[in-house]
Amino acid sequence: MRIGVIAAQGAFVEHINLLRRLEVEAFPVRLPRELEKIDGLIIPGGESTSISQLMAEYCLSERVRALAREGLPVFGTCAGMIMLANDISDGEKVEPLGLMNIKVRRNAFGRQVDSFESDLTIPALGEKPFPGVFIRAPLIEQVKSGEVLARLGDGTIVAARQGQFLASSFHPELTDDPRFHRFFLDIVEGCD
Ligand code: GLN
Repeated sequence: MRIGVIAAQGAFVEHINLLRRLEVEAFPVRLPRELEKIDGLIIPGGESTSISQLMAEYCLSERVRALAREGLPVFGTCAGMIMLANDISDGEKVEPLGLMNIKVRRNAFGRQVDSFESDLTIPALGEKPFPGVFIRAPLIEQVKSGEVLARLGDGTIVAARQGQFLASSFHPELTDDPRFHRFFLDIVEGCD
């Protein structure tokens, strides 16, 4: 199994390291032709305005949209989740890929709590709470298709799945817990 990680900007190295720890072939994607060799794609966290600009500039956006239409599984974390959405409340500066029918809000947690950690109950991953690391995170205002995977204690939606697409507000690649990535790999293998 080969997983590409969009390496335009942001936390792509951490995803690659975690995947390699799981003995998966993982590599950075910067060129459209590198997309041809992969079974699954991760769009990392970072700054969605930059990622969207660079993906368009590197001619990656159109190719990713086309491959996703043909069934390529895609997992977006944080800014990557913003890229997956088809509706962004304050999104004038971002040109998302629009693969998931979700509405997201950027920088949704305000200044004081820009970054925080929260143990999340994610039934799809089992009983043990998952360590949610939130960094200037977006939230999901609405899941219009697919399923909600995780919520904060106050009900805020922070992860969702729609078929072969997976999105999280938080950063599983910054933890030692590989379950969220394994869940994505199961989707890639068609074993979910
Ligand atoms: N605030 C960033 C954005 O809007 C996302 C932050 C992150 O990916 N950690 O793109």
